[in-house]
Amino acid sequence: MPASDIMTIAQTGETILTRQTQAVVTFDQALVQLANNMIATMNAAHGVGIAAPQVFSNLAIFIMHSKPNSRYPGAPLTQATVVINPQIIAVSDEMETENEGCLSIAGQRLEVTRHKSITVRYQSLQGDSIEQQLDGFIARIFQHEFDHLQGITLLERVKMPELQYVNQADFPIPNQSYNNLHSPSLDGQGVSQ
Ligand SMILES: [Zn+2]
Repeated sequence: MPASDIMTIAQTGETILTRQTQAVVTFDQALVQLANNMIATMNAAHGVGIAAPQVFSNLAIFIMHSKPNSRYPGAPLTQATVVINPQIIAVSDEMETENEGCLSIAGQRLEVTRHKSITVRYQSLQGDSIEQQLDGFIARIFQHEFDHLQGITLLERVKMPELQYVNQADFPIPNQSYNNLHSPSLDGQGVSQ
């Protein structure tokens, strides 16, 4: 594994956080380096997830790293997972509302309602297609990071009246509007994404 660098985390107000990302089409060493840098940056900030726009990249890639915590004591302890070109292909009717934090929104936690379970498809660093069902905390991380790839942070998400996701499968979509998106909350006990 190449050496990794800790990158600067974009804070709210940065334009990169409001832009939709572009699909990854080249699975090369530069992508591996970006993923390694994102993991190092997330770990240094004690986060459970980080998305490319947070490190000033416009690629559709994020890291999720579920760990047990006070709000989700049963959350699986996983390795950091690299998620590329994600899609949410099915969602549960059951919703959960929890506080969420974000590495790009220092010092704020907001209640966000998310689907309790989701079925997702994404690509690995090797370009392999992976399909998984995610529940609870890890589903919440995925939904939070997925939002980042759409240029949506907690600050926008909590203003959306109902939860709806635009699939990454539709990328790249120039000038996409999110006016029809709606939603509520993420997790809350000191973990930030
Ligand atoms: Zn975030």
